[in-house]
Amino acid sequence: MFGKKILTKCMNSYLMTNFQKELVIIGSGWAAKSIVDNLPKKILKSTLVVDNLSRSKINQYSFQPPENYLSPAINHSILGGSSKIWHGVLGSLDRYEESYFKKANPHVVRGKNFASDFFKISKKSLESEYEDNYSVRPYFTPYITSRLGKKDFQDIALKDFYVKTFSKLENGLIKLTSYDKETIFCKKLIIAAGALGSTEIILRSLGLYGEENGVSFTDHAISPIGISKLSSKKTEEHFFKSHLKAKNNSKGHFKYSIDSLPNPTRDERFSIFFRKSLFNKISLREEKIRNSIVSFRSNGLSYKDIKNIFLNPNILISLLALKVGVKGLGSYNQVFCLSTQDREPDRLIYLDKKENLHLNWHVTDKEVSRKINFAKNLLNAEFEPFDSEDIKKVTGGSAHITSNLVKFVGKDEESIKFIDNSNVYIIGSSTFSKPILSNNTLAIVSQAISFAREELL
Ligand SMILES: Cc1cc2nc3c(=O)[nH]c(=O)nc-3n(C[C@H](O)[C@H](O)[C@H](O)COP(=O)(O)OP(=O)(O)OC[C@H]3O[C@@H](n4cnc5c(N)ncnc54)[C@H](O)[C@@H]3O)c2cc1C
Repeated sequence: MFGKKILTKCMNSYLMTNFQKELVIIGSGWAAKSIVDNLPKKILKSTLVVDNLSRSKINQYSFQPPENYLSPAINHSILGGSSKIWHGVLGSLDRYEESYFKKANPHVVRGKNFASDFFKISKKSLESEYEDNYSVRPYFTPYITSRLGKKDFQDIALKDFYVKTFSKLENGLIKLTSYDKETIFCKKLIIAAGALGSTEIILRSLGLYGEENGVSFTDHAISPIGISKLSSKKTEEHFFKSHLKAKNNSKGHFKYSIDSLPNPTRDERFSIFFRKSLFNKISLREEKIRNSIVSFRSNGLSYKDIKNIFLNPNILISLLALKVGVKGLGSYNQVFCLSTQDREPDRLIYLDKKENLHLNWHVTDKEVSRKINFAKNLLNAEFEPFDSEDIKKVTGGSAHITSNLVKFVGKDEESIKFIDNSNVYIIGSSTFSKPILSNNTLAIVSQAISFAREELL
């Protein structure tokens, strides 16, 4: 018995020294990639990136998406994460967001120049212009989206390790335990596992089960909301006049959204953009097919998807227009609206008492009618809204935009350190107390690079 105890102790200390790393990063999305690329050389040598590299585990631990939730990455843990299936659209913070994040999440603002360099896009080309009751924001859409994968982590140790929990040991080390019951020990831990993944790891590690312990979650609620009768020329003249000469990048093109100004009583904001469409109608089926196309980025298109695309010329043409900027096709301008969402108490990520992960996400009637009103105020009689029930049916979420783990970090929101434990950090989409209107990746990368440069020296 005594001998067995000593043996176990020896084994433990052997494991401690052999599987001990200076730094472990959980996740291989944009947040992790931008940290890795900015780590000092001496830390890089003793850093390990862990992620779930096995599809069988994904199937085992995936969960049902809520109604209208579109993302194929609902199982959220896959090499590259959302960064493997994202659309690649880059938009920067506008001046309202910037002034908020300057105080609340200052790394986001301090790293913005690094982030534009990271994506090789000039910061100037993403600057918004401001009118009395709206602003115009340029966003860059690449022809071919760069997607993260194993190839992007070649210069660093990468391990198949699906993290279940972490804990701090008495000797100051941090212990990570996987779903396969493997362990890794490290001195510093960065949790960069996305809005869903980081939240899940922290809830499990703290043993917080039940809806009452959930973490609020928001997404882009996106849908077609009506038809603009303005010709494309008039739309451009009216809204995008000052942007017409924006510099074109050879690997993609710039488009513009019309954004609502912030409302002092709510976080919700709206972005309107126009999409060429051949038909003056809304079709649930069509929207579903369009959205299933997203899955092609991670899982490949099914035979059914391909058939649906080829049998529906509207989708084919819109896809072409989206990807290669075909001009002059389609007679109607479908008005799309993307909104950030207010944090509602029942839009949550939580673990139930049986330890299963849940995502509660929905769109409210009020959100839909506020979208319609925003478009009406902008386009007046030129806007013909779709039926609000139909809009609600096709309004989807997909991008895992933000979860609010800020409630677990230090006293103020500036801190990305986890509670009082100075060696555990949370980075990325789970650290935003206020949802972001534009595409959030540039903000995440800004935060991650400035964090790596300032805190990990
Ligand atoms: C369909 C879609 C389209 C999008 N389009 C855009 C866009 O056009 N523009 C834009 O700016 N943003 C877009 N986004 C959002 C963007 O992809 C995310 O904001 C960004 O990828 C977040 O980066 P991240 O590194 O924080 O998280 P993620 O990219 O989600 O990475 C998280 C990583 O953590 C890993 N992980 C999770 N749990 C565990 C665990 N328990 N153990 C080990 N590893 C774990 C995952 O496998 C993954 O590698 C889109 C998202 C989706 C889903």
